[in-house]
Amino acid sequence: MQGDKFVRERERLINRLIREGILKDPKVIKAMLKVPREEFVPEKYKQHAYIDSPLPTLNGQTISAPHMVAMMCELLDLDVGHKVLEVGTGSGYHAAVCAEIVAPSDVDSKLWGHVYSIERVPRLAVFARNNLERTGYSDKVTVIVGDGTLGYSPAAPYDRILVTAAAPNIPKPLIEQLALNGRIVIPVGGTYYQELIVGVKISDSEIKTYSAGGCVFVPLIGRYGWRF
Ligand code: SAM
Repeated sequence: MQGDKFVRERERLINRLIREGILKDPKVIKAMLKVPREEFVPEKYKQHAYIDSPLPTLNGQTISAPHMVAMMCELLDLDVGHKVLEVGTGSGYHAAVCAEIVAPSDVDSKLWGHVYSIERVPRLAVFARNNLERTGYSDKVTVIVGDGTLGYSPAAPYDRILVTAAAPNIPKPLIEQLALNGRIVIPVGGTYYQELIVGVKISDSEIKTYSAGGCVFVPLIGRYGWRF
């Protein structure tokens, strides 16, 4: 059966990411085993959902490769109850994986955190909302249409901020909207190649950063991103 095939493929991919040392946190492993990536890719790419590669979504954008979703979730150090801001909803897949960690169904819903996710392309926001609704995540993820370089002040401050598009610098509003001791993971650099930067907010005005290695993302387009 098609469903069983996807479950087997998902397990095989996650086991490979564990063997390669990319996946370590049991919470991230559990979440990635649960969220069906095949439900977040356009129909014509469904059969390729468990190839460890980015895939096209709509408007020339992509859903990130599973190893990158795994790495970013590990670096974010997510936990039950966290309030997360994601910039770059795309398909909604990464938001669903975060939601599975901060608001797991086997934990009392009073302890749940929430994921706010911003997408600048309205068509993609609709695509993501439909995917999240179909897979049962619409009460744990709120999708907003807008320029995510401005953050989303109505729900700030955030325990964790995840940016899934490449920025020239860390946008100032995102630093302001990060809670004290909060973490941000963001690709920073040029439009072709970036460093995956992890930042921890150590005071109202200071953020301590380090690079977790190289990466390649589509550009973050907006007021505090690239202006094409
Ligand atoms: N996280 C997504 C997923 O799970 O499918 C993948 C995101 S894709 C690599 C990057 C996304 O960032 C694209 O959908 C793009 O439209 C969006 N984007 C680019 N600039 C943005 C901005 N300023 N605000 C919000 N979204 C933005």
